[in-house]
Amino acid sequence: MRPARALIDLQALRHNYQLAREVTGAKALAVIKADAYGHGAVRCAEALQDMADGFAVACIEEALELRAGGIRGPILLLEGFFEADELPLIVEHDFWCVVHSLWQLEALEKASLSQPITVWLKLDSGMHRVGLHPADYQAAYRRLLASGNVAKIVLMSHFARADELHDPSSTEQLAIFDKARQGLVAQISLRNSPAVLGWPQIPSDWVRPGIMLYGATPFDEPNAVASRLQPVMTLESKIISVRELPAGEPVGYGARFVTTQPTRVGVVAMGYADGYPRQAPTGTPVLVEGQRSQLVGRVSMDMLAVDLTHVPQAGLGSTVELWGKHILASDVAKAADTIPYQIFCNLRRVPRLYSGA
Ligand SMILES: *Cc1c(COP(=O)(O)O)cnc(C)c1O
Repeated sequence: MRPARALIDLQALRHNYQLAREVTGAKALAVIKADAYGHGAVRCAEALQDMADGFAVACIEEALELRAGGIRGPILLLEGFFEADELPLIVEHDFWCVVHSLWQLEALEKASLSQPITVWLKLDSGMHRVGLHPADYQAAYRRLLASGNVAKIVLMSHFARADELHDPSSTEQLAIFDKARQGLVAQISLRNSPAVLGWPQIPSDWVRPGIMLYGATPFDEPNAVASRLQPVMTLESKIISVRELPAGEPVGYGARFVTTQPTRVGVVAMGYADGYPRQAPTGTPVLVEGQRSQLVGRVSMDMLAVDLTHVPQAGLGSTVELWGKHILASDVAKAADTIPYQIFCNLRRVPRLYSGA
């Protein structure tokens, strides 16, 4: 059997969820969209079910998968419905629903639902992706309540730059949010992971942690709270071939790496078809037999090469950690010029093995 696999530590997931609640004192929706950022949505939800205040996913398809997997409790649809015919299912399964656009508001007004639903009314406070314009916000709130189809409204917005700890725009977005909601008596929700970890002054009744649940920092710089996160996924495989090369020999496609001295190279059963980023250059950290080393040459579809010159105890069958408890996914992402969100979401083909539930 091919040795590539992703080990998922559900105890670490629970620890990270608890940390989000502890540092904010708020209720937390565990964001498990995109198959829990590649970690497996149903398994992650099961592991959190007894402690989580609720879950958040992108769309009704993801929410239905959770219900089919036996997940109870609140599930928020972060983009609401895409078509009005989803509304009866939203009622049936008791999903919570973001309203981010006037067309959704109008569809809700026109619908005749067998029971009123819970709406999270989203304000565009400056990111300019989705959310109602501040000038429309109060009227939308009143219209939702008057529609008879809405039982409860939570006020929400989303930050564009909360991962930049010295940038003023999150504070500016908060001011726009506070002005738009003046006089409305309702719970609020603003904070994603970077805002949970790095912006303690921003109020929230509900927080929406995603990436931090999986133990990766959203920041480029060290952060005291982020340092308490525990990586959940360990992507590992084994060395399937070893060669001793003299100086001047190329390794892999395109001869992108050429040895400058006698070099021992190990080939690992892991490639970009597993989700390991092809953009990762020579020098990207890996762990071999518990010792740090580095990637050499281009990542292939099913294989990649690592330097074993300074890891003499490593050989055929040695375990290699591509990311996990020692090699941080955020460091691999940075080397590959991307973010841990993307490298987690790209995971495929490798079996996921769960522990700690
Ligand atoms: C994805 C998402 C989150 C979670 O973001 P992280 O940065 O992963 O914590 C929170 N809120 C909304 C609206 C989202 O779409």
